[in-house]
Amino acid sequence: MLPIYETDEPVTFETAEGVACITLNRPKYGNAQNGQLIYALDAAWRRAADNDDIGAIVIRGAGKNFSSGHDIGTPGRDADEPRTERQTFWPNHSARDGAETAYIREQELYLEMCRRWRACPKPAIAAVQGACIAGGLMVAWACDLIVACHDAFFSDPVLQMGIPGVEYFAHAFEMHPRIAREFLYLGERMTAERAYQLGMVNRVVSAEQLEAEALAIAKRIASLPRFGVTLAKQAFNAQEDLAGKRATMEAVFPMHHLGHAHNLLLGKNLRGGVDSRAVKSAARETGDRA
Ligand code: ZN
Repeated sequence: MLPIYETDEPVTFETAEGVACITLNRPKYGNAQNGQLIYALDAAWRRAADNDDIGAIVIRGAGKNFSSGHDIGTPGRDADEPRTERQTFWPNHSARDGAETAYIREQELYLEMCRRWRACPKPAIAAVQGACIAGGLMVAWACDLIVACHDAFFSDPVLQMGIPGVEYFAHAFEMHPRIAREFLYLGERMTAERAYQLGMVNRVVSAEQLEAEALAIAKRIASLPRFGVTLAKQAFNAQEDLAGKRATMEAVFPMHHLGHAHNLLLGKNLRGGVDSRAVKSAARETGDRA
């Protein structure tokens, strides 16, 4: 069945004083990431990278939530659809079968794109409100800085699907490994305040201040010597990768897909039969303890 897109503009792009503001724009569905949105997001990153007037990027979500994660249940879910705008050399996933379909689709849309965004020479600031769940984490973690408002919460609940965390396995680099284990094993919501205490979030502000704060930081970065900023960003990326960030993701991605394939071998779907309603109710049950 063909997806029903509720918007032609799943990502919006604006500029202000050297800053590109990229907005995830599916507020009706918590900015759930279907292929339509992810390719539009990738195109927006490219547009910001290509524009010499832009020195920094703000990534934000329209509506009450930053992102509820990968789209696993809206009318616009399009995971089975072929894509013509592929950005890597992976073939069209929809023409494959078995474990290969998801393996190559997730390489292209999730792992490679997130890593490309992280490698953008221009720093990015995520402005997070409400839910930042699973695939939402990947978009925020690919940014250099994270500003959150008081109601923001972070969670990776995908272990209940039998999968060891989201495709971009940066958990133990975003927080202390022991906290990362708790975060993933229990799948609980982490409040903005705790994320701030752990150093995963740079600033926690009111909902009214969120956009202005992220924009102010981005403008300040955009006013600095451009090449120096790029070198500084590359230095931090290099440090993380020398500590194993990239290698960890390479090692874990096949495990993630062994989890998906195991679900298929058991006669279930990729997510072990867990749907978005089950994820939401589990998040509520465990929620707000952090
Ligand atoms: Zn996956």
